[in-house]
Amino acid sequence: MTNISRTMKELDPLIDFVRSQFHEPEAFIPLHDPRFIGNEKKYLEECIDSNFVSSVGEFVGKFERMCADYAGTRYAVAAMNGTAALHVALQLSGVRRDDEVITQSLTFIATANAITYTGAKPVFLDVDRETMGLSPDSVARWLSDNAEMRGDSAYNKKTGRRIAACVPMHTFGHPVKIDRLAEVLDSYGIPLIEDAAESLGSLFGGKHTGTFGKAGILSFNGNKIITTGGGGMILTDDEELAVKAKHMTTQAKIPHAWEYVHDMTGYNYRLTNINAALGCAQMETLDQFIALKRDLAFRYREFFRESEFTFFDEPEECRSNFWLNVIITKDRKRRDEVLEYTNSRGVMTRPIWELMNRLSMYRDCQTDGLENSVWFADRVVNLPSSAYIEGYGKGKTR
Ligand SMILES: *Cc1c(COP(=O)(O)O)cnc(C)c1O
Repeated sequence: MTNISRTMKELDPLIDFVRSQFHEPEAFIPLHDPRFIGNEKKYLEECIDSNFVSSVGEFVGKFERMCADYAGTRYAVAAMNGTAALHVALQLSGVRRDDEVITQSLTFIATANAITYTGAKPVFLDVDRETMGLSPDSVARWLSDNAEMRGDSAYNKKTGRRIAACVPMHTFGHPVKIDRLAEVLDSYGIPLIEDAAESLGSLFGGKHTGTFGKAGILSFNGNKIITTGGGGMILTDDEELAVKAKHMTTQAKIPHAWEYVHDMTGYNYRLTNINAALGCAQMETLDQFIALKRDLAFRYREFFRESEFTFFDEPEECRSNFWLNVIITKDRKRRDEVLEYTNSRGVMTRPIWELMNRLSMYRDCQTDGLENSVWFADRVVNLPSSAYIEGYGKGKTR
């Protein structure tokens, strides 16, 4: 037996442990899959029976109200996915062509793409070791080196561009140090837009992620903590932003009984009634999912205490939804061994995303040292994290 396969064999207890958590001695275990245990079928049937399946219907408004109430914002505006929600939130926060928008390099591609759709250039800064999310210290340092105030707006001295917004992302559901970040941005007059796509149900100091700045966005893609099939939401307390977001996501049509008059180039970003119906049912079971996921995280934490791996825990003062559980390996070589062996044994694991500034279209963007981002990129392994519900999926062809 070669050395490699011996070190791989040491991973058998990990595989056995994951399998025991999902009571699946043999079958493939996905990273994260949805659970439909509530009123999903009932609400979908209501859509079909009423014939309201598309752009009109009562579920969209209901779903928006449920999300706003849950997050504690005054308004929530639905969109067809989280990326579209972020695009509109940025545009309505005043981000324009040739502006700069600060975000983290360690994020899912949608964050950077939504910034790019506005014509702005992303600036990729480092994350904190405690949160895996945008570091307020990195932002403060970069701003103090690069920014100057012209009137109420911050400009980049070197590029001459306006620094129009900052988009932190709550990685895998772990909240960033959002209070400190908000403070830093405030002192430069830079709007804060949170990418809370992964952190529905995650709290910082008891307050829901996505509610600390001008706007925040959620995603209801199939792999998120709850799903609408595909969907997104803009959270905000700003009435004007909410009204404009509704307008902009629905082709910017002026309400009228029959005339087709539109007052700007809007988007067809609306969420359909069918998707929203699914969302209403999923929202009803969200707290149950969070409890199950936190239980699973607790058991992973205990298991990895005695292992070569470090379990990534929720940051201080936070409640994380533990959307995807994370272990940290000692280096990239070990990460690759873990990925290779677990996946070959039917236990789905994944690395974290390639850093944005390493992708061809974002290679020329400004960055800072990215020390922690590189550290995580070499070491993160995501473990299967679905909510386990006894008997779920058994006897169904899924
Ligand atoms: C899922 C996700 C989004 C939005 O994704 P959609 O598939 O467009 O709903 C945005 N940012 C992050 C970090 C995400 O994980």
